[in-house]
Amino acid sequence: MKVLVLNSSYLPTGVINWKRGLKLLFMDKADIIEPSSYKIRTVNREYIIPNVIKLKTYNNIAYMDYKYCRTNIYKRDRYRCRYCNKSLKTNNSITIDHIIPKSRGGKDTWENTVTSCVECNYKKKDLTPEEAGMKLLPGSLKPTYFINLADINPEWVKYLPVRLAQ
Ligand SMILES: [Zn+2]
Repeated sequence: MKVLVLNSSYLPTGVINWKRGLKLLFMDKADIIEPSSYKIRTVNREYIIPNVIKLKTYNNIAYMDYKYCRTNIYKRDRYRCRYCNKSLKTNNSITIDHIIPKSRGGKDTWENTVTSCVECNYKKKDLTPEEAGMKLLPGSLKPTYFINLADINPEWVKYLPVRLAQ
């Protein structure tokens, strides 16, 4: 059960699990915007599990519970090659490139992995982008703001900025 987190400007800033959502409410760090239809019962009382909460203070800290995995890297990069911008959504040539190659100590992290087409990945080989004369397209490498929230919960579509909702 996931909770959508909005920042103080009502923009989605993350998705967290419901326990963390309740904790933010208890700590008075967030307001409930939409309840879910779920409740938990303790000995003394009943708590409504939130569906959407809003942080009280302006906060750029992303509360992310996104799993680091291949699919989420593709989603962050909107299924485009981060080197040549080719759309790879319906393309089998989609791969993951390590910016600092694994053979040179590059890690499996959000900051070091990008979506790449086979051609760019092949061209880059075991080089850094600079060495290969290739440029990473601008855009966040951090897992903020990118996941298609509608995949998780269609009720959240109305909170998406237009650009992402399309
Ligand atoms: Zn490419």
